[in-house]
Amino acid sequence: MVDEQKLNTLRELKKKMREDMNLPLRKSATNLVFGEGSPDAKLFFLGEGPGYWEDQKGRPFVGNAGALLNQLLYSIKLPREEVFITNVICYRPSENRDPYPEEIEAFEPYINEMIETIKPKVIVTLGRFSMAKFIPGVKITVVHGKPHGVDWKGRKLIVMPMFHPAAALRSGEVLRQIKEDFLKLPELIKRAEKVELKQMNLI
Ligand code: URA
Repeated sequence: MVDEQKLNTLRELKKKMREDMNLPLRKSATNLVFGEGSPDAKLFFLGEGPGYWEDQKGRPFVGNAGALLNQLLYSIKLPREEVFITNVICYRPSENRDPYPEEIEAFEPYINEMIETIKPKVIVTLGRFSMAKFIPGVKITVVHGKPHGVDWKGRKLIVMPMFHPAAALRSGEVLRQIKEDFLKLPELIKRAEKVELKQMNLI
């Protein structure tokens, strides 16, 4: 059963975002790509920003990178509907350019509220822009696939940095590494749940 309160908070947030005239890229984009998935998700995927197909459909990761993400989720037997997927910016930048720092900053309060509402066990960052939100000043080639305990707004978060699926589509070696990193997720979720139960004195 889905947590109705969380669902309502996310619906309200989406409405607020849609009505926010100050958000950058709003005018040039076709649709807001708020994000989608379960309000009770244990895994929260944070990508970079909508591409052409995401902009057309108003849904995250529905193009080629999304097809790979779906395959990777399948490899760990996790239905896409059970995770939550969004991006550091929720309107498409023209020509698929990298997001500017001020754009990331403008969307940040919304992304933060999504995380605070869903309270996932593990945040998976896809690519360097979302990684930098939690683990600044590191290189993705060095830290990918290594879970990081992060203090975030007084809460301990587990952040798993990963390559962006689009990078894996361009390089066989990156594809091999992202596949390997994904296989670590089920055990990581289990570990995160155990730590939580211990903190609540339930085991
Ligand atoms: N790449 C991203 O970073 N996000 C999407 O939603 C699609 C492609």
